[in-house]
Amino acid sequence: MTNVTSDLTPRADSFLTVDLGAVVANWAQLRDRVAPAECSAVVKADAYGLGVARVVPALAAAGCRTFVVAQFEEALAVRRALEPVAPQAQVFSLGGMPPGCEGEFLANRILPVLNHLSGIASWRAFAASRGEVLPAVVHIDTGMNRLGLGPDELDDLAAHPEWLEGIDVRYWMTHLACAEDFDNPMNGEQLDRFRDALARLPKAKASFANSSGIFHGKDYHFDLARPGCALYGVNPTPRLPNPMRGTVRLDARLLQVRNCASPMTVGYAAAHKVTGPVRIATIGIGYADGYMRSLGGKGHVFVDGVAAPIVGRISMDLITIDVTGLPESVAHAGRMVELIGPNRPVDRVAEEAGTIGYEIMTSLGRRYHRVYVGA
Ligand SMILES: *Cc1c(COP(=O)(O)O)cnc(C)c1O
Repeated sequence: MTNVTSDLTPRADSFLTVDLGAVVANWAQLRDRVAPAECSAVVKADAYGLGVARVVPALAAAGCRTFVVAQFEEALAVRRALEPVAPQAQVFSLGGMPPGCEGEFLANRILPVLNHLSGIASWRAFAASRGEVLPAVVHIDTGMNRLGLGPDELDDLAAHPEWLEGIDVRYWMTHLACAEDFDNPMNGEQLDRFRDALARLPKAKASFANSSGIFHGKDYHFDLARPGCALYGVNPTPRLPNPMRGTVRLDARLLQVRNCASPMTVGYAAAHKVTGPVRIATIGIGYADGYMRSLGGKGHVFVDGVAAPIVGRISMDLITIDVTGLPESVAHAGRMVELIGPNRPVDRVAEEAGTIGYEIMTSLGRRYHRVYVGA
């Protein structure tokens, strides 16, 4: 991925570069890995922060035909993005149906994910009222206890297959709780529970694996995989080298570089104390941009490929780094530095922030000047 130079956009001080070519390459890698199963793309939370309007057409052009979101409004945004490229692609919304929205789901060709028996009953009643058979995805809970039919509901549905009359079940789906922990016995237990459920229900396609689930092998692929984070470069196999390509870089200008000679403090709450001569550089990114406050005193920024520690608190709009070890010819005002990129992948930033790559991605700020490359 090329670095962004300031002359393109002289008024911006921070640049988020999204490599759509890397997103597409990641999807193609997962598609090949799960073939002959289908590979969808989970694009909830604005494609994990990267922007549905750009990510969805790029994936559709590469052949992706199923898109997964969490909420109805997101599904509408995906539909709009698909219109010129792949209007027939299917979109499904994991959160189920807000009350009374059946007509809007149908009109916009959004598949509801039915998470409980009353959702199934409403969709069935709606289908009957129109005299049509309507498609849906049905979610079976195999251990998350979050969404999906629990064991009792599953028993009831298995005993009353007529409750599905008028519903074209496109997929039975479930979701792994511990997929990124490859030794966890919970993975195999959920697989067994899902297979048991499928054996008791009317025959339809099935969908099981998220990003990490794909790496558990063929048994976990079923008919449709649902990767999210891996598309965007988060490592789906945390204890092994990342098989995915990074898709974002975040660069920003040093706004000011100052010498602090005497004992002094830096930033809010005087949280960082300096003794002796140091040089402090200030960058115009803060927690309002999703640059987590927990990175204060922990994170690193790369100046010309050299790590400079974040010192003091993260402010709303600013962070301060110690550049004492760097020559003035390198660490000077106006210089572009790397906050996320080849030297600091998202997973490393997450580790320093005490969170996961998903949260770093979905928090990426709206104030960055965004540049899309590799389309
Ligand atoms: C978010 C989500 C996914 C994608 O998960 P990743 O770990 O990001 O690959 C798949 N399925 C469901 C039900 C989800 O909520």
